[in-house]
Amino acid sequence: MSIEKKLENVGLGTKSVWSGETELFYQGATQVPIVQNATFGYRDIDIWYDVATEKKEGHIYSRNTNPTLHVFEEKMRILEDAEAATSFATGMAAISNTLFTLLSPNDRVVSVKDTYGGTSKIFMEFLPRFNVNVELCETTDYDAIEKEIKKGCQVVYMETPTNPTLKIMDLKRLIKAAHAQGAIVVVDNTFATPVNQKPISLGADLVLHSATKFLGGHADAMGGIVCGKKDLVKRIYHFREINGATLGPMSAFLLIRGLKTLELRIHKHNDNAMELAKYLQTHPKVESVNYPGLESHLNHKIAKEQMMGFGGVLSFTLKGGFDSVSKLLPLLQFAHMAAHLGSVDTIVGPPKVASHVENTPEERKMLGIPEGLIRCSVGIENIEDIKADFEQALSKI
Ligand SMILES: *Cc1c(COP(=O)(O)O)cnc(C)c1O
Repeated sequence: MSIEKKLENVGLGTKSVWSGETELFYQGATQVPIVQNATFGYRDIDIWYDVATEKKEGHIYSRNTNPTLHVFEEKMRILEDAEAATSFATGMAAISNTLFTLLSPNDRVVSVKDTYGGTSKIFMEFLPRFNVNVELCETTDYDAIEKEIKKGCQVVYMETPTNPTLKIMDLKRLIKAAHAQGAIVVVDNTFATPVNQKPISLGADLVLHSATKFLGGHADAMGGIVCGKKDLVKRIYHFREINGATLGPMSAFLLIRGLKTLELRIHKHNDNAMELAKYLQTHPKVESVNYPGLESHLNHKIAKEQMMGFGGVLSFTLKGGFDSVSKLLPLLQFAHMAAHLGSVDTIVGPPKVASHVENTPEERKMLGIPEGLIRCSVGIENIEDIKADFEQALSKI
């Protein structure tokens, strides 16, 4: 049995360490070298031509392919159970390149109001300029989404859990409705990661990520990835190689390094977020907590069915609104106030100044994001310390 075949039957932790790395690299290097160069030379023009026309494997120019990037793509392809994968400079590059590859003027895309801020900007500002019809539905009104899908569309774009409201979309049901119309299904799996959710096993055609978040996991590299059906990934790769939103080799190296501990980290994130959510839910100064692992969560049942874990991100509101938020956050000692999530350190931020700062107050209202919401990406610190930190900060407001 080939080692590639064997890798399909091993656990996720083994996959993330070994996928794409079953051969030794340059001069026997056991770890992936950072191939930090723009181009690849040939001594034989016929071989060069065969590689350039994709008759032979190899690399021509790093805007197209690069050996370090290839390892990152292979790891994600195998972790997401996909036929193919292609990488990008950022998560937004993955999302915009995918949408602009798949959609043409007069096409229709059905999505929801709660997508990531940058994604909702593409839907509201950029796609309409190219005469693409965008329908943004209420995120958890599955009947309404199904109705819009049935009117006909080329792409159904989903994100679950959503950022920053942690709403859950019913993947199986909506994928079925989309495929009945012949639409391509794209799922942003950034919040869940393949440790907690496998959209391809539920029927999705394409899964994409901001690799900047949990996949890299250390807030030190940006990147994006699209995994899925070979023919679709090939089209998206072609758009990206010409468009030029290519991942850098140094970032790819850092993302590979991060991916090796993905399973370990996500299990810890899951446990810590669950415990912090439970703690916050009972605190008298907290108004509401959004976390799909809580039984009180609107979509807890579906989350339990389609997810293996509930992720490291929660959001909550305080009594006293944005005033209380501005007082609380600077009091936290072990939490960065920053526009980020998915890192080993705990990170807090109001979507109003972080994930949805690009949106106007009216747009945030339309998207259902309270101005006083706090998003908290719970890190892998010891949970007793995280809870104690919130306790001391909450006691002072
Ligand atoms: C951060 C994020 C993105 C965008 O990724 P970048 O790497 O910042 O471009 C897309 N989707 C979700 C869910 C995100 O959290």
